[in-house]
Amino acid sequence: MSDDRLDPAQLGLGDMDPEDFRAHGHRVIDWIADYLAGVGELPVLSQVAPGEVRSRLPASPPADPEPFDAMLDDIDEVVLPGITHWNHPAFHAYFAITGSGPGILGEALAAGFNVNGMLWRTSPSATELEETVVDWVRQLLGLPTGMRGIILDTASMSTMVALAAAREHADLDVRQRGLAGRPDLPLLRVYTSQEAHSSVEKAAIALGLGRDGVRQVEVDDQWRMDPAALAAAVREDVRFGYRPIAIVPTVGTTSTTSIDPVPAIMDLRDELVAELGHDIWVHVDGAYGATAAVSPRLRWVLDGVERADSLVVNPHKWLFTPIDCSVLLLRDPATLTRAFSLIPEYLATDDGEVTDYMNWGVQLGRRFRSLKLWMVLRYFGADGLAARIDHHVAQAARVVRWVAEHPAVVQAAPAPLSTVCFRAEPATLDLGASTLETGALPSDAPTGEDAAAVEASLREQRLDELNQAWLDRVNATGEVLLSHTRLEGRLVLRLAVGSLRTTDDHLEATLAVLDRELRALCD
Ligand SMILES: *Cc1c(COP(=O)(O)O)cnc(C)c1O
Repeated sequence: MSDDRLDPAQLGLGDMDPEDFRAHGHRVIDWIADYLAGVGELPVLSQVAPGEVRSRLPASPPADPEPFDAMLDDIDEVVLPGITHWNHPAFHAYFAITGSGPGILGEALAAGFNVNGMLWRTSPSATELEETVVDWVRQLLGLPTGMRGIILDTASMSTMVALAAAREHADLDVRQRGLAGRPDLPLLRVYTSQEAHSSVEKAAIALGLGRDGVRQVEVDDQWRMDPAALAAAVREDVRFGYRPIAIVPTVGTTSTTSIDPVPAIMDLRDELVAELGHDIWVHVDGAYGATAAVSPRLRWVLDGVERADSLVVNPHKWLFTPIDCSVLLLRDPATLTRAFSLIPEYLATDDGEVTDYMNWGVQLGRRFRSLKLWMVLRYFGADGLAARIDHHVAQAARVVRWVAEHPAVVQAAPAPLSTVCFRAEPATLDLGASTLETGALPSDAPTGEDAAAVEASLREQRLDELNQAWLDRVNATGEVLLSHTRLEGRLVLRLAVGSLRTTDDHLEATLAVLDRELRALCD
Protein backbone atom coordinates (compact mmCIF):
# COMPACT_ATOMS: atom_id res chain seq x y z
CA MET A 1 0.00 0.00 0.00
CA SER A 2 1.43 3.36 -0.98
CA ASP A 3 -0.17 5.32 1.81
CA ASP A 4 0.61 3.72 5.17
CA ARG A 5 -2.04 5.71 6.96
CA LEU A 6 -4.72 3.67 5.17
CA ASP A 7 -3.27 0.27 6.15
CA PRO A 8 -5.64 -1.18 8.79
CA ALA A 9 -2.82 -3.24 10.30
CA GLN A 10 -0.69 -0.12 10.69
CA LEU A 11 -3.60 1.75 12.20
CA GLY A 12 -4.38 -1.15 14.53
CA LEU A 13 -7.76 -1.57 12.87
CA GLY A 14 -7.41 -5.11 11.64
CA ASP A 15 -8.21 -8.51 13.07
CA MET A 16 -6.11 -10.48 15.52
CA ASP A 17 -2.63 -11.02 14.10
CA PRO A 18 -2.36 -14.51 12.50
CA GLU A 19 0.56 -15.50 14.72
CA ASP A 20 -1.31 -14.33 17.82
CA PHE A 21 -4.28 -16.34 16.58
CA ARG A 22 -2.10 -19.42 16.31
CA ALA A 23 -0.72 -18.98 19.83
CA HIS A 24 -4.10 -18.24 21.43
CA GLY A 25 -5.67 -21.02 19.39
CA HIS A 26 -3.23 -23.58 20.70
CA ARG A 27 -4.02 -22.47 24.22
CA VAL A 28 -7.76 -22.69 23.62
CA ILE A 29 -7.43 -26.23 22.27
CA ASP A 30 -5.24 -27.13 25.26
CA TRP A 31 -7.86 -25.61 27.54
CA ILE A 32 -10.62 -27.69 25.95
CA ALA A 33 -8.50 -30.87 26.10
CA ASP A 34 -7.78 -30.32 29.80
CA TYR A 35 -11.43 -29.50 30.44
CA LEU A 36 -12.68 -32.67 28.76
CA ALA A 37 -10.06 -34.77 30.55
CA GLY A 38 -11.06 -33.38 33.95
CA VAL A 39 -14.75 -32.57 33.58
CA GLY A 40 -15.71 -35.58 35.72
CA GLU A 41 -14.14 -33.87 38.75
CA LEU A 42 -16.36 -30.78 38.45
CA PRO A 43 -19.87 -30.51 39.97
CA VAL A 44 -22.16 -31.61 37.17
CA LEU A 45 -24.93 -29.15 38.06
CA SER A 46 -23.70 -25.57 38.27
CA GLN A 47 -23.71 -24.42 41.89
CA VAL A 48 -24.13 -20.68 41.22
CA ALA A 49 -27.11 -18.66 42.45
CA PRO A 50 -29.30 -16.77 39.98
CA GLY A 51 -27.62 -13.49 39.00
CA GLU A 52 -24.21 -14.57 40.32
CA VAL A 53 -22.52 -14.87 36.92
CA ARG A 54 -24.01 -11.61 35.73
CA SER A 55 -22.88 -9.80 38.89
CA ARG A 56 -19.31 -10.78 38.10
CA LEU A 57 -19.44 -9.43 34.56
CA PRO A 58 -18.86 -5.74 33.79
CA ALA A 59 -22.14 -3.99 33.00
CA SER A 60 -20.64 -2.25 29.95
CA PRO A 61 -18.20 -3.31 27.25
CA PRO A 62 -14.55 -2.30 27.65
CA ALA A 63 -13.56 0.91 25.88
CA ASP A 64 -10.01 -0.30 25.31
CA PRO A 65 -8.68 -3.62 24.03
CA GLU A 66 -8.22 -6.34 26.59
CA PRO A 67 -5.56 -9.04 26.46
CA PHE A 68 -6.66 -12.52 25.47
CA ASP A 69 -5.20 -13.82 28.75
CA ALA A 70 -7.76 -11.80 30.69
CA MET A 71 -10.55 -13.53 28.80
CA LEU A 72 -9.14 -16.99 29.45
CA ASP A 73 -8.81 -16.09 33.14
CA ASP A 74 -12.47 -15.11 33.23
CA ILE A 75 -13.42 -18.34 31.48
CA ASP A 76 -11.90 -20.12 34.50
CA GLU A 77 -13.06 -17.71 37.18
CA VAL A 78 -16.47 -16.50 36.05
CA VAL A 79 -17.82 -18.68 33.25
CA LEU A 80 -16.80 -22.17 34.34
CA PRO A 81 -18.61 -22.02 37.72
CA GLY A 82 -21.81 -21.16 35.86
CA ILE A 83 -21.57 -24.13 33.52
CA THR A 84 -23.74 -27.20 34.00
CA HIS A 85 -21.48 -29.84 32.55
CA TRP A 86 -23.31 -31.67 29.79
CA ASN A 87 -19.88 -33.22 29.10
CA HIS A 88 -19.78 -34.75 32.62
CA PRO A 89 -19.77 -38.57 32.58
CA ALA A 90 -22.59 -38.57 35.16
CA PHE A 91 -24.84 -36.15 33.27
CA HIS A 92 -28.01 -38.22 32.87
CA ALA A 93 -30.65 -35.48 32.78
CA TYR A 94 -32.96 -34.71 29.83
CA PHE A 95 -31.05 -36.57 27.11
CA ALA A 96 -27.36 -37.17 27.73
CA ILE A 97 -25.33 -35.90 24.80
CA THR A 98 -21.74 -35.79 23.58
CA GLY A 99 -19.84 -32.96 21.98
CA SER A 100 -17.30 -35.44 20.61
CA GLY A 101 -13.72 -34.52 19.70
CA PRO A 102 -14.22 -34.65 15.93
CA GLY A 103 -17.43 -32.65 16.32
CA ILE A 104 -15.74 -29.92 18.35
CA LEU A 105 -12.95 -29.65 15.79
CA GLY A 106 -15.53 -29.55 13.00
CA GLU A 107 -17.18 -26.59 14.78
CA ALA A 108 -13.84 -24.83 14.90
CA LEU A 109 -13.26 -25.34 11.18
CA ALA A 110 -16.78 -24.14 10.36
CA ALA A 111 -16.10 -21.00 12.41
CA GLY A 112 -12.83 -20.58 10.54
CA PHE A 113 -14.55 -20.71 7.15
CA ASN A 114 -17.40 -18.52 8.40
CA VAL A 115 -19.40 -19.09 5.23
CA ASN A 116 -23.07 -18.38 4.80
CA GLY A 117 -24.57 -21.36 2.99
CA MET A 118 -27.75 -19.59 1.90
CA LEU A 119 -27.14 -20.28 -1.81
CA TRP A 120 -25.16 -22.99 -3.56
CA ARG A 121 -22.78 -20.35 -4.93
CA THR A 122 -22.17 -18.74 -1.55
CA SER A 123 -20.19 -21.91 -0.82
CA PRO A 124 -20.74 -24.96 -3.00
CA SER A 125 -18.94 -27.12 -0.43
CA ALA A 126 -21.37 -26.10 2.32
CA THR A 127 -24.35 -27.12 0.20
CA GLU A 128 -22.89 -30.26 -1.32
CA LEU A 129 -21.39 -31.51 1.94
CA GLU A 130 -24.79 -30.96 3.54
CA GLU A 131 -26.56 -32.92 0.78
CA THR A 132 -24.00 -35.71 1.14
CA VAL A 133 -24.07 -35.91 4.92
CA VAL A 134 -27.88 -35.82 5.04
CA ASP A 135 -27.88 -38.73 2.61
CA TRP A 136 -25.35 -40.57 4.77
CA VAL A 137 -27.68 -40.12 7.75
CA ARG A 138 -30.55 -41.48 5.64
CA GLN A 139 -28.47 -44.56 4.83
CA LEU A 140 -27.35 -45.02 8.44
CA LEU A 141 -31.01 -45.05 9.47
CA GLY A 142 -31.91 -47.58 6.74
CA LEU A 143 -34.35 -45.22 5.02
CA PRO A 144 -35.13 -45.40 1.29
CA THR A 145 -33.34 -43.52 -1.47
CA GLY A 146 -35.31 -40.55 -2.61
CA MET A 147 -35.63 -39.03 0.84
CA ARG A 148 -33.66 -35.81 0.85
CA GLY A 149 -33.15 -33.24 3.49
CA ILE A 150 -31.67 -30.29 5.23
CA ILE A 151 -29.78 -29.55 8.42
CA LEU A 152 -31.48 -27.10 10.76
CA ASP A 153 -30.65 -25.97 14.28
CA THR A 154 -33.16 -27.94 16.34
CA ALA A 155 -35.94 -30.49 16.13
CA SER A 156 -38.38 -27.75 17.10
CA MET A 157 -37.45 -25.85 13.94
CA SER A 158 -37.44 -29.02 11.81
CA THR A 159 -40.94 -29.91 13.01
CA MET A 160 -42.19 -26.40 12.36
CA VAL A 161 -40.78 -26.45 8.84
CA ALA A 162 -42.21 -29.95 8.21
CA LEU A 163 -45.65 -28.84 9.37
CA ALA A 164 -45.39 -25.77 7.14
CA ALA A 165 -44.83 -28.22 4.29
CA ALA A 166 -47.86 -30.22 5.48
CA ARG A 167 -49.93 -27.03 5.46
CA GLU A 168 -48.71 -26.23 1.95
CA HIS A 169 -49.49 -29.81 0.88
CA ALA A 170 -53.10 -29.29 1.98
CA ASP A 171 -53.42 -26.91 -0.99
CA LEU A 172 -55.25 -24.11 0.79
CA ASP A 173 -53.15 -21.26 -0.63
CA VAL A 174 -52.04 -20.28 2.85
CA ARG A 175 -48.69 -19.19 1.46
CA GLN A 176 -50.38 -16.39 -0.48
CA ARG A 177 -53.55 -15.64 1.45
CA GLY A 178 -52.70 -16.60 5.01
CA LEU A 179 -55.20 -18.10 7.43
CA ALA A 180 -56.84 -15.11 9.08
CA GLY A 181 -60.19 -13.81 7.85
CA ARG A 182 -60.86 -16.74 5.54
CA PRO A 183 -64.41 -18.05 5.82
CA ASP A 184 -63.58 -20.46 2.98
CA LEU A 185 -61.24 -22.45 5.24
CA PRO A 186 -62.18 -25.26 7.61
CA LEU A 187 -60.46 -25.55 10.98
CA LEU A 188 -57.19 -27.40 10.44
CA ARG A 189 -56.04 -30.13 12.75
CA VAL A 190 -52.71 -31.83 13.50
CA TYR A 191 -52.74 -35.09 15.47
CA THR A 192 -50.05 -36.13 17.88
CA SER A 193 -50.04 -38.05 21.16
CA GLN A 194 -50.43 -36.90 24.74
CA GLU A 195 -46.77 -37.77 25.16
CA ALA A 196 -45.57 -35.74 22.17
CA HIS A 197 -42.95 -33.03 22.58
CA SER A 198 -44.18 -29.48 23.16
CA SER A 199 -42.48 -28.46 19.90
CA VAL A 200 -45.47 -29.81 17.97
CA GLU A 201 -47.78 -27.35 19.72
CA LYS A 202 -45.21 -24.58 19.38
CA ALA A 203 -45.08 -25.20 15.64
CA ALA A 204 -48.88 -24.94 15.52
CA ILE A 205 -48.68 -21.65 17.41
CA ALA A 206 -46.14 -20.27 14.94
CA LEU A 207 -48.00 -21.55 11.87
CA GLY A 208 -51.31 -19.96 12.77
CA LEU A 209 -52.99 -23.29 13.54
CA GLY A 210 -53.07 -22.47 17.23
CA ARG A 211 -52.91 -24.87 20.13
CA ASP A 212 -56.53 -25.78 19.37
CA GLY A 213 -55.24 -26.95 16.02
CA VAL A 214 -53.40 -29.80 17.74
CA ARG A 215 -55.32 -32.79 19.04
CA GLN A 216 -53.42 -34.93 21.51
CA VAL A 217 -54.47 -38.52 21.05
CA GLU A 218 -54.59 -40.92 24.00
CA VAL A 219 -51.72 -43.31 24.62
CA ASP A 220 -51.80 -46.98 25.61
CA ASP A 221 -50.44 -48.41 28.86
CA GLN A 222 -46.92 -48.07 27.48
CA TRP A 223 -47.25 -44.39 26.54
CA ARG A 224 -47.54 -45.12 22.80
CA MET A 225 -50.09 -43.38 20.58
CA ASP A 226 -53.20 -45.55 20.35
CA PRO A 227 -54.08 -45.95 16.64
CA ALA A 228 -57.72 -46.78 17.45
CA ALA A 229 -58.00 -43.57 19.45
CA LEU A 230 -56.35 -41.70 16.58
CA ALA A 231 -58.85 -43.14 14.10
CA ALA A 232 -61.76 -42.19 16.35
CA ALA A 233 -60.37 -38.67 16.89
CA VAL A 234 -59.91 -38.00 13.18
CA ARG A 235 -63.34 -39.33 12.26
CA GLU A 236 -65.00 -37.34 15.01
CA ASP A 237 -63.22 -34.16 13.92
CA VAL A 238 -64.21 -34.70 10.30
CA ARG A 239 -67.85 -35.00 11.37
CA PHE A 240 -67.50 -31.61 13.03
CA GLY A 241 -65.96 -30.07 9.92
CA TYR A 242 -62.28 -30.14 10.75
CA ARG A 243 -59.71 -30.79 8.05
CA PRO A 244 -56.96 -33.17 9.25
CA ILE A 245 -53.67 -32.07 7.69
CA ALA A 246 -50.97 -33.98 9.57
CA ILE A 247 -50.19 -36.76 12.02
CA VAL A 248 -47.03 -36.51 14.13
CA PRO A 249 -46.01 -39.83 15.70
CA THR A 250 -42.97 -39.90 17.96
CA VAL A 251 -40.17 -42.47 17.86
CA GLY A 252 -38.71 -42.06 21.32
CA THR A 253 -40.92 -39.70 23.33
CA THR A 254 -39.18 -37.24 25.61
CA SER A 255 -40.63 -38.53 28.89
CA THR A 256 -40.36 -42.30 28.52
CA THR A 257 -38.83 -42.89 25.02
CA SER A 258 -41.97 -44.78 24.04
CA ILE A 259 -42.19 -45.60 20.34
CA ASP A 260 -45.48 -44.88 18.61
CA PRO A 261 -46.69 -47.71 16.32
CA VAL A 262 -45.76 -46.05 13.03
CA PRO A 263 -46.71 -49.02 10.76
CA ALA A 264 -50.26 -49.08 12.15
CA ILE A 265 -50.44 -45.28 11.93
CA MET A 266 -49.33 -45.41 8.28
CA ASP A 267 -51.99 -48.04 7.52
CA LEU A 268 -54.56 -45.82 9.17
CA ARG A 269 -53.33 -42.80 7.25
CA ASP A 270 -53.84 -44.67 3.96
CA GLU A 271 -57.32 -45.74 5.06
CA LEU A 272 -58.28 -42.20 6.05
CA VAL A 273 -56.92 -40.71 2.84
CA ALA A 274 -59.08 -43.12 0.82
CA GLU A 275 -62.06 -42.24 3.00
CA LEU A 276 -61.61 -38.45 3.02
CA GLY A 277 -60.34 -37.97 -0.51
CA HIS A 278 -57.40 -35.78 0.54
CA ASP A 279 -53.91 -36.46 1.75
CA ILE A 280 -52.67 -36.33 5.36
CA TRP A 281 -48.97 -35.62 5.95
CA VAL A 282 -47.12 -37.83 8.42
CA HIS A 283 -44.15 -36.23 10.15
CA VAL A 284 -42.20 -38.51 12.49
CA ASP A 285 -40.48 -36.92 15.49
CA GLY A 286 -37.38 -39.03 16.07
CA ALA A 287 -35.33 -36.23 17.60
CA TYR A 288 -33.70 -38.61 20.06
CA GLY A 289 -34.98 -42.09 19.26
CA ALA A 290 -34.45 -42.31 15.49
CA THR A 291 -30.70 -42.45 16.11
CA ALA A 292 -31.17 -45.93 17.56
CA ALA A 293 -31.73 -47.16 13.98
CA VAL A 294 -28.02 -46.59 13.32
CA SER A 295 -27.64 -49.91 15.14
CA PRO A 296 -28.89 -52.77 12.93
CA ARG A 297 -30.19 -54.45 16.10
CA LEU A 298 -32.45 -51.48 16.75
CA ARG A 299 -33.39 -50.58 13.19
CA TRP A 300 -36.95 -51.75 13.88
CA VAL A 301 -37.61 -48.47 15.70
CA LEU A 302 -38.07 -46.87 12.27
CA ASP A 303 -40.37 -49.56 10.89
CA GLY A 304 -43.00 -47.81 8.79
CA VAL A 305 -41.10 -44.52 8.62
CA GLU A 306 -40.14 -45.33 5.02
CA ARG A 307 -43.80 -44.58 4.23
CA ALA A 308 -43.88 -41.26 6.15
CA ASP A 309 -43.54 -37.85 4.53
CA SER A 310 -40.87 -36.50 6.84
CA LEU A 311 -38.66 -37.40 9.77
CA VAL A 312 -36.58 -35.31 12.13
CA VAL A 313 -33.54 -36.72 13.92
CA ASN A 314 -31.10 -34.69 16.02
CA PRO A 315 -27.45 -35.72 15.66
CA HIS A 316 -26.88 -33.32 18.56
CA LYS A 317 -28.83 -35.64 20.82
CA TRP A 318 -27.54 -39.19 20.46
CA LEU A 319 -25.17 -38.98 17.51
CA PHE A 320 -22.25 -37.30 19.26
CA THR A 321 -22.42 -34.02 17.33
CA PRO A 322 -22.12 -30.70 19.17
CA ILE A 323 -25.27 -28.60 19.55
CA ASP A 324 -26.86 -27.55 17.31
CA CYS A 325 -27.56 -30.06 14.53
CA SER A 326 -30.97 -31.37 13.47
CA VAL A 327 -31.58 -33.33 10.25
CA LEU A 328 -34.96 -33.09 8.53
CA LEU A 329 -35.56 -35.75 5.87
CA LEU A 330 -38.44 -35.44 3.42
CA ARG A 331 -39.82 -37.70 0.70
CA ASP A 332 -40.80 -34.72 -1.42
CA PRO A 333 -38.71 -31.65 -0.63
CA ALA A 334 -40.48 -29.81 -3.46
CA THR A 335 -43.42 -29.31 -1.10
CA LEU A 336 -41.10 -27.52 1.28
CA THR A 337 -39.58 -25.30 -1.39
CA ARG A 338 -43.10 -24.57 -2.69
CA ALA A 339 -43.94 -23.36 0.80
CA PHE A 340 -40.87 -21.21 1.31
CA SER A 341 -39.14 -20.32 -1.95
CA LEU A 342 -39.08 -16.55 -2.29
CA ILE A 343 -36.24 -15.05 -4.28
CA PRO A 344 -35.62 -11.32 -4.14
CA GLU A 345 -33.60 -9.82 -6.98
CA TYR A 346 -30.47 -9.42 -4.86
CA LEU A 347 -30.39 -13.20 -4.29
CA ALA A 348 -31.29 -14.31 -7.82
CA THR A 349 -28.76 -16.61 -9.52
CA ASP A 350 -28.44 -18.53 -12.75
CA ASP A 351 -26.56 -21.52 -11.38
CA GLY A 352 -28.94 -24.06 -12.90
CA GLU A 353 -29.76 -27.35 -11.18
CA VAL A 354 -28.33 -26.66 -7.75
CA THR A 355 -29.75 -26.69 -4.24
CA ASP A 356 -30.19 -23.25 -2.73
CA TYR A 357 -30.98 -24.13 0.87
CA MET A 358 -32.43 -20.68 1.62
CA ASN A 359 -35.54 -21.93 -0.21
CA TRP A 360 -36.01 -24.84 2.21
CA GLY A 361 -37.20 -22.90 5.22
CA VAL A 362 -37.55 -19.61 7.04
CA GLN A 363 -33.97 -18.55 7.53
CA LEU A 364 -31.75 -17.05 4.88
CA GLY A 365 -28.30 -17.21 6.47
CA ARG A 366 -27.07 -20.71 7.30
CA ARG A 367 -24.14 -22.07 9.29
CA PHE A 368 -21.85 -24.76 7.85
CA ARG A 369 -23.32 -27.38 10.22
CA SER A 370 -22.66 -30.35 7.97
CA LEU A 371 -18.91 -30.08 8.54
CA LYS A 372 -18.97 -31.25 12.16
CA LEU A 373 -21.47 -34.02 11.38
CA TRP A 374 -19.31 -35.17 8.45
CA MET A 375 -16.30 -35.38 10.75
CA VAL A 376 -18.23 -37.27 13.44
CA LEU A 377 -19.55 -39.83 10.95
CA ARG A 378 -16.11 -40.34 9.39
CA TYR A 379 -14.24 -40.45 12.68
CA PHE A 380 -16.41 -43.16 14.25
CA GLY A 381 -17.66 -44.91 11.11
CA ALA A 382 -21.04 -46.63 10.78
CA ASP A 383 -19.95 -49.68 12.78
CA GLY A 384 -18.34 -47.57 15.49
CA LEU A 385 -21.49 -45.48 15.83
CA ALA A 386 -23.69 -48.59 16.02
CA ALA A 387 -21.42 -50.15 18.67
CA ARG A 388 -21.65 -47.00 20.78
CA ILE A 389 -25.46 -46.88 20.52
CA ASP A 390 -25.63 -50.58 21.47
CA HIS A 391 -23.34 -49.91 24.43
CA HIS A 392 -25.60 -47.12 25.71
CA VAL A 393 -28.63 -49.40 25.41
CA ALA A 394 -26.73 -52.07 27.37
CA GLN A 395 -25.85 -49.49 30.04
CA ALA A 396 -29.54 -48.57 30.31
CA ALA A 397 -30.33 -52.29 30.69
CA ARG A 398 -27.91 -52.30 33.65
CA VAL A 399 -29.95 -49.47 35.21
CA VAL A 400 -33.13 -51.49 34.62
CA ARG A 401 -31.54 -54.46 36.46
CA TRP A 402 -30.50 -52.21 39.34
CA VAL A 403 -34.07 -50.94 39.62
CA ALA A 404 -35.46 -54.49 39.53
CA GLU A 405 -33.11 -55.60 42.31
CA HIS A 406 -33.67 -52.54 44.52
CA PRO A 407 -36.26 -53.21 47.23
CA ALA A 408 -37.51 -49.60 47.34
CA VAL A 409 -37.38 -48.61 43.66
CA VAL A 410 -39.77 -49.52 40.84
CA GLN A 411 -39.52 -49.04 37.11
CA ALA A 412 -42.14 -46.54 35.94
CA ALA A 413 -42.19 -47.23 32.20
CA PRO A 414 -40.66 -49.65 29.69
CA ALA A 415 -37.14 -48.64 28.61
CA PRO A 416 -36.83 -49.62 24.93
CA LEU A 417 -33.78 -47.40 24.30
CA SER A 418 -31.22 -45.75 26.59
CA THR A 419 -33.42 -43.89 29.08
CA VAL A 420 -34.92 -45.38 32.23
CA CYS A 421 -37.84 -43.98 34.26
CA PHE A 422 -38.18 -45.11 37.86
CA ARG A 423 -39.33 -43.94 41.28
CA ALA A 424 -38.95 -44.75 44.92
CA GLU A 425 -41.86 -46.69 46.35
CA PRO A 426 -40.72 -48.04 49.70
CA ALA A 427 -42.94 -50.54 51.48
CA THR A 428 -43.20 -48.31 54.52
CA LEU A 429 -43.93 -44.64 54.21
CA ASP A 430 -44.47 -41.83 56.69
CA LEU A 431 -47.96 -40.54 55.89
CA GLY A 432 -47.70 -37.69 58.36
CA ALA A 433 -49.18 -38.71 61.69
CA SER A 434 -47.49 -42.08 61.87
CA THR A 435 -45.37 -44.44 59.85
CA LEU A 436 -47.70 -46.96 58.26
CA GLU A 437 -47.38 -50.22 56.53
CA THR A 438 -48.84 -49.91 53.04
CA GLY A 439 -52.53 -50.71 53.31
CA ALA A 440 -52.85 -49.83 57.02
CA LEU A 441 -55.28 -47.11 58.08
CA PRO A 442 -54.66 -44.08 60.28
CA SER A 443 -56.55 -44.62 63.56
CA ASP A 444 -58.68 -41.45 63.32
CA ALA A 445 -59.43 -41.78 59.60
CA PRO A 446 -62.81 -42.32 58.00
CA THR A 447 -63.65 -45.94 57.32
CA GLY A 448 -64.59 -47.89 54.21
CA GLU A 449 -64.02 -46.70 50.66
CA ASP A 450 -63.54 -43.07 51.66
CA ALA A 451 -60.77 -44.02 54.01
CA ALA A 452 -59.05 -46.04 51.33
CA ALA A 453 -59.29 -43.13 48.87
CA VAL A 454 -57.97 -40.65 51.42
CA GLU A 455 -55.08 -42.90 52.25
CA ALA A 456 -54.30 -43.57 48.61
CA SER A 457 -54.15 -39.90 47.79
CA LEU A 458 -52.09 -39.17 50.91
CA ARG A 459 -49.72 -41.93 49.90
CA GLU A 460 -49.40 -40.54 46.36
CA GLN A 461 -48.62 -37.12 47.76
CA ARG A 462 -45.98 -38.50 50.12
CA LEU A 463 -44.44 -40.57 47.34
CA ASP A 464 -44.17 -37.49 45.13
CA GLU A 465 -42.53 -35.60 47.99
CA LEU A 466 -40.15 -38.46 48.64
CA ASN A 467 -39.15 -38.71 44.98
CA GLN A 468 -38.70 -34.95 44.70
CA ALA A 469 -36.52 -34.99 47.82
CA TRP A 470 -34.53 -37.92 46.41
CA LEU A 471 -33.93 -36.14 43.12
CA ASP A 472 -32.98 -32.89 44.88
CA ARG A 473 -30.52 -34.68 47.18
CA VAL A 474 -28.94 -36.61 44.31
CA ASN A 475 -28.53 -33.50 42.17
CA ALA A 476 -27.26 -31.41 45.08
CA THR A 477 -24.29 -33.75 45.49
CA GLY A 478 -22.83 -32.40 42.26
CA GLU A 479 -21.72 -35.95 41.51
CA VAL A 480 -24.67 -36.86 39.31
CA LEU A 481 -27.45 -35.09 37.42
CA LEU A 482 -30.83 -36.63 36.67
CA SER A 483 -34.11 -35.01 35.64
CA HIS A 484 -37.75 -35.90 36.15
CA THR A 485 -41.06 -36.27 34.42
CA ARG A 486 -44.63 -37.01 35.45
CA LEU A 487 -46.45 -40.16 34.40
CA GLU A 488 -50.17 -40.32 35.21
CA GLY A 489 -49.56 -37.42 37.53
CA ARG A 490 -46.78 -39.19 39.46
CA LEU A 491 -43.31 -37.75 39.79
CA VAL A 492 -40.76 -40.03 38.17
CA LEU A 493 -36.97 -39.83 37.89
CA ARG A 494 -35.36 -40.17 34.46
CA LEU A 495 -31.85 -41.49 33.89
CA ALA A 496 -30.73 -40.97 30.29
CA VAL A 497 -27.58 -42.68 29.02
CA GLY A 498 -25.98 -41.24 25.90
CA SER A 499 -22.58 -39.74 26.64
CA LEU A 500 -19.43 -41.27 25.19
CA ARG A 501 -17.70 -40.27 28.44
CA THR A 502 -19.88 -42.48 30.67
CA THR A 503 -17.93 -45.65 31.48
CA ASP A 504 -19.49 -48.64 33.22
CA ASP A 505 -17.59 -47.58 36.36
CA HIS A 506 -19.14 -44.13 36.20
CA LEU A 507 -22.56 -45.72 35.90
CA GLU A 508 -21.98 -47.96 38.94
CA ALA A 509 -20.89 -44.88 40.90
CA THR A 510 -24.08 -43.09 39.86
CA LEU A 511 -26.23 -46.02 41.00
CA ALA A 512 -24.35 -46.01 44.33
CA VAL A 513 -25.14 -42.30 44.78
CA LEU A 514 -28.82 -42.97 44.04
CA ASP A 515 -28.88 -45.77 46.59
CA ARG A 516 -26.98 -43.78 49.23
CA GLU A 517 -29.27 -40.75 48.97
CA LEU A 518 -32.46 -42.80 49.04
CA ARG A 519 -31.28 -44.65 52.17
CA ALA A 520 -30.44 -41.32 53.81
CA LEU A 521 -34.05 -40.24 53.22
CA CYS A 522 -35.77 -43.43 54.26
CA ASP A 523 -33.69 -44.50 57.26
C1 LIG B 1 -35.58 -33.06 22.43
C2 LIG B 1 -36.79 -33.31 21.64
C3 LIG B 1 -37.32 -32.33 20.80
C4 LIG B 1 -36.80 -30.92 20.74
O1 LIG B 1 -35.49 -30.85 20.33
P1 LIG B 1 -34.76 -29.46 20.03
O2 LIG B 1 -33.74 -29.83 19.04
O3 LIG B 1 -34.19 -29.02 21.33
O4 LIG B 1 -35.77 -28.52 19.51
C5 LIG B 1 -38.40 -32.67 20.00
N1 LIG B 1 -38.94 -33.89 20.06
C6 LIG B 1 -38.48 -34.85 20.87
C7 LIG B 1 -39.13 -36.19 20.88
C8 LIG B 1 -37.39 -34.60 21.70
O5 LIG B 1 -36.95 -35.54 22.53
